[in-house]
Amino acid sequence: MIETISQLKEKLKIGPKILSHLSRLKIKTTFDLLFHFPIRYENRTKTTPISQAERGIPQLFSGQITNSIIKRRGKNQQAVLTLEDTSGYLDIRFYHCSQSYLDAMINAEWIHMWGEPRFLSNGIELIHPEIQLFNEKEQSPNTFLTAIYPSTEGLSQFQIRQLIAKALKKGAIECGFENLLPEAGHSSIWESITRIHCPSPDTEIESNRIRLALEELVAHRLNLINRRKNTRKLVAPNFDVHQQSLAKKFTKSLPFKLTNSQKKVIKEINLDLAKNFAMLRLLQGDVGSGKTIVAAISALNPIGNRFQVALMSPTEVLAEQHFSVFDNWFSPMGIKTVSLKGSLSTKQRNKTLKEISTGDANLIIGTHALFQKDVIYKNLGLIIIDEQHRFGVAQRLALREKGKYLTPHQLIMTATPIPRTLAMTRFADLDVSTITELPSGRSPINTIILNQDRDSELMNRLDNIFSEGGQVYWVCPLIEQSTELSYQAANTRLKIIENSLPHRRSALIHGKMDSLTKKNTMKAFTDGRFDILVATTVIEVGVNIVNANVIIIENPEKLGLAQLHQLRGRVGRGSKKSFCILLYGNEISSAGLERLKTLKHTLDGFKIAEADLSKRGPGEVLTGTRQAGIPDFRVVDLSKDYKLIDSSKAITEQLVSRTDSRIQKIIDRWIANPDKFLHV
Ligand code: ADP
Ligand code: MG
Repeated sequence: MIETISQLKEKLKIGPKILSHLSRLKIKTTFDLLFHFPIRYENRTKTTPISQAERGIPQLFSGQITNSIIKRRGKNQQAVLTLEDTSGYLDIRFYHCSQSYLDAMINAEWIHMWGEPRFLSNGIELIHPEIQLFNEKEQSPNTFLTAIYPSTEGLSQFQIRQLIAKALKKGAIECGFENLLPEAGHSSIWESITRIHCPSPDTEIESNRIRLALEELVAHRLNLINRRKNTRKLVAPNFDVHQQSLAKKFTKSLPFKLTNSQKKVIKEINLDLAKNFAMLRLLQGDVGSGKTIVAAISALNPIGNRFQVALMSPTEVLAEQHFSVFDNWFSPMGIKTVSLKGSLSTKQRNKTLKEISTGDANLIIGTHALFQKDVIYKNLGLIIIDEQHRFGVAQRLALREKGKYLTPHQLIMTATPIPRTLAMTRFADLDVSTITELPSGRSPINTIILNQDRDSELMNRLDNIFSEGGQVYWVCPLIEQSTELSYQAANTRLKIIENSLPHRRSALIHGKMDSLTKKNTMKAFTDGRFDILVATTVIEVGVNIVNANVIIIENPEKLGLAQLHQLRGRVGRGSKKSFCILLYGNEISSAGLERLKTLKHTLDGFKIAEADLSKRGPGEVLTGTRQAGIPDFRVVDLSKDYKLIDSSKAITEQLVSRTDSRIQKIIDRWIANPDKFLHV
């Protein structure tokens, strides 16, 4: 099925101009063209006798041209033609029209016109109707509905329709769309495609679309399963499960007991680490569910076996925080943790690089700096990626290749709960572990929705919070286009706070600061040296300051629910009563306000992600759609086709269990570049 644009040109005899219009519509192959589906249909299956023309709706008229009046104005040519049928006649007005086109109409034996009639005092008129010419009389109209397609400037509906008709003709002969998947429906995909483009008035179009969507979902799942089989061929170091004295010792030293959920996922991870092919596991757990401890315990297994572990964080703030936490935990056990960050001096950096290459460093923490060329690991056994949605596939691949002869295991952690529907299509090649419970003893966060007009009232309430020893994050809206603007917004807010609460200590943190200043600011806040931290969304993921119990989020209407949930998760980490205040602007829509209410009423990240999915679509749920790797479906629309996920899964499993010969054919049919959606 892999075909190039030149083949498309060749097959359908398309000129360069049309070809460029098509590529604007992302149509590069005959297959693409066949999947360019109509947005709606017009019923042009019945002709209206001219004497029965109706007002206000387009209709199909047919007959012959019996008269023409042509006026020339410079280059322009105006024409009024007369169309006659057995019941009467009407005028057709063209404000511009080429001579050859006029001749063709006048000489045609029969003509169909589609347009909305205008009723004038002296008769009926059609202006620039859509026209179809025939060289035999008494042509009946199409028996199927007329499709209206998404188009682009310069490409008429007529042209697209003709191209698709050609593709349908060619496709039937050349592509051989046999019915590979009767499990998805009795018709072949060929029949379904044809019915969608040219349905008869009683065709159930949606059932044909579903037939295709189901096969497409199956194809994607099959592809991911293939990929996963390939990862299993990558030889990894295997770590004996019995070698876990370090982990035991560490768990005993903790001031709390692991939750059952944490224990369960640790077991799953350890079983994987004991195998000699690379683990590829996604660890999901809501904000505050305690993924860091799970990461630490998982790391102790390879470290106990004298292998290195790399922990990659999405931001420097988070890498810094991880470093101090892990170093604190691990150094008493004689484990050396190093931090590889952008702000190191050359001398420090060289020293750290050496520790990594000699194996003196057991745990290496950093941002993407971890996979730069000059970072050479002695023996990398496990890669842990925190908050995976921030990393692209290429970055993960680069890190995996740091393993030299053996492929390191990979544990990918995320607090962005992935709705089941998305997980099925996006992560079918990953094993998934989920932490389903929060540690006990947390008091639930109280979410308050407040209009910005009431911020002075809020200041007074904050004063009480501080008197009770609490600390506050004040998050200013993320202005994506400009870090400068978002910095200004934060700075303005800081000034207001300083004016209204002069006796309280406040500070600012934002993405443009150098990492040392950021680090010092976070440290000072953690140590309680000031009360309120005004921040941009740099604190969104992972930041863990137990004493902070209030978070105020300005303009929450600009952020996705999942992101708001993340931010809210910065509080509620200690035993103090916690609040999340959503300070919305006046221009908020009623739907926007409704969305905030969803957040107020649930603390369950999975439910919130599902709500985001149904309200804003899959692209918005995972920040940065492309990067998030949601496949570019041809037919599937996850917001409605999630209902098909279960049956697609069942069909896929059937095929796989029989190692069915159709598997590769189905993948080839639907997925032009099967490696594109690779999840390393
Ligand atoms: P997240 O899953 O969001 O990364 P963290 O790993 O940062 O969450 O954990 C949040 C807080 O909960 C930390 O202060 C951590 O020490 C604490 N914690 C983790 N596991 C437990 C547990 N089983 N019981 C009590 N507190 C825990
Ligand atoms: Mg975390």
